[in-house]
Amino acid sequence: MITVSFACGHTAKLADDTALAVCAECGERRVQAVKARAPKFRGVVLGPHAKFESLAGIPVTVGAPNDGE
Ligand SMILES: [Zn+2]
Repeated sequence: MITVSFACGHTAKLADDTALAVCAECGERRVQAVKARAPKFRGVVLGPHAKFESLAGIPVTVGAPNDGE
């Protein structure tokens, strides 16, 4: 959950994937502050929020002939 404090003074707990924050009580859209959990990264990465993990490869094509675009 993400805790959002709006400019109107109201606060709301929103889902992690919320795309648009609107105050349910008065319709305010200006956000004053946001509290969310720390992001988590995985893969070839190091850091306090990171979990090192060898991920499966992704096939790519390099130098493929252009089809005349
Ligand atoms: Zn409000």
